Amino acid sequence: MAPPRDSTDTNDADRVREPIVSPYMPKYPDPMSNISNFKIIESTLREGEQFANAFFSTEKKVEIAKALDAIGVDYLELTSPAASEQSFNDCKTISNLGLKAKILTHTRCHMDDARLAIETGVDGVDVVIGTSSYLREFSHGKDMDYITTKAIEVITYIKDQGKEVRFSTEDSFRSDLVDLLSIYKAVDKIGVHRVGIADTVGCANPRQVYELVRTLRSVVNCDIECHFHNDTGCAIANAYAALEAGATHIDTSVLGIGERNGITPLGGLLARMYAADKQYVLDKYDLKQIRDVENIVASAVDVTVPFNNYITGYCAFTHKAGIHAKAILNNPSTYEILKPEDFGMSRYVSIGHRLTGWNAVKNRIEQLQLVDLTEDDAKTITAKIKELADIRPLSLENVDVLLRQYHSAKQTSNHLNVLQQYVNPDQLAV
Ligand SMILES: [Zn+2]
Repeated sequence: MAPPRDSTDTNDADRVREPIVSPYMPKYPDPMSNISNFKIIESTLREGEQFANAFFSTEKKVEIAKALDAIGVDYLELTSPAASEQSFNDCKTISNLGLKAKILTHTRCHMDDARLAIETGVDGVDVVIGTSSYLREFSHGKDMDYITTKAIEVITYIKDQGKEVRFSTEDSFRSDLVDLLSIYKAVDKIGVHRVGIADTVGCANPRQVYELVRTLRSVVNCDIECHFHNDTGCAIANAYAALEAGATHIDTSVLGIGERNGITPLGGLLARMYAADKQYVLDKYDLKQIRDVENIVASAVDVTVPFNNYITGYCAFTHKAGIHAKAILNNPSTYEILKPEDFGMSRYVSIGHRLTGWNAVKNRIEQLQLVDLTEDDAKTITAKIKELADIRPLSLENVDVLLRQYHSAKQTSNHLNVLQQYVNPDQLAV
């Protein structure tokens, strides 16, 4: 029998049960996994500023910072104050807004940059240096001994100022593993708050991420932050694998904007984590604010929100095929892993097309309160919709015209004749 729509209209035996343990969680909890205990470092105002179209005025940065704070992200990361005078002033301005999120800035592993960062009043500094053979040969040209000495000097200085400090390598997945582990171990020993792994070129896959983070987890005691570029489409999956392996912090940006095609998108990560531990995500983040911040950022960088975007894409909660629509109307969980209402979104069942089903049409009849139409009427009208939609899809308005005409003609038993009059969807124009 069909599952009930809610638990009040049936007895216990028939009730659709929400699984007590989420089927999306591992059967045996892994104590190292942080799927249910992670933090977000939101980098739209740093990584996002590296997106091709991005130019944020101070006012726009403040607006974005406040909107992200309203979602409840744990940290906001800002462009280095060494980048320009305005960047320096913007760090100061945003640090003084009194937001709940901690404010970080992202600098090179260099004493001059660290001093400037401290001057701006941020809560912490994210320090980065390249360790891959490519970067060592073609970018800064320094060896590992030099990098380690420099890292210790800069970290010690920032800690002595009472600030939080993260040390990250760049292009970590193409760095020598022994080099990586030894530098992370060295900075962990002097009390760095977090070490960072960065897939700067977007080459890593989830299995490689899991292995590297799990190895690092056994080498350092501090927190582990991860930063994933999306060149090959793995940025969300890599973030998830990193948390499973014991990472604690994930970098995101709104709509994923950043260098090249960007990084892990905030909305996509929240969707992924909601599927894994809904309660943790709902308690910590205000998911209804995602759409607002995406609209602010999309318009600021002159792009539109993609049609298939996580959560907010225009078809993210649209159900079309008749068999899907029927099940969705009975119990949305049948074809929905995300509840649209938790994200301030609405479900939409599309009915004016050749794949439609009579259950969806019957549901529309109920919405329009055409109470004296029966299931047989719904089936008859559905057959007509399919016939007309073979010419072209009908809008919801077209369908409503058909339903209302049929309904009023039924009062005089003329409804079947009315249906026969319609041979082209254009006759249903409003
Ligand atoms: Zn990046």
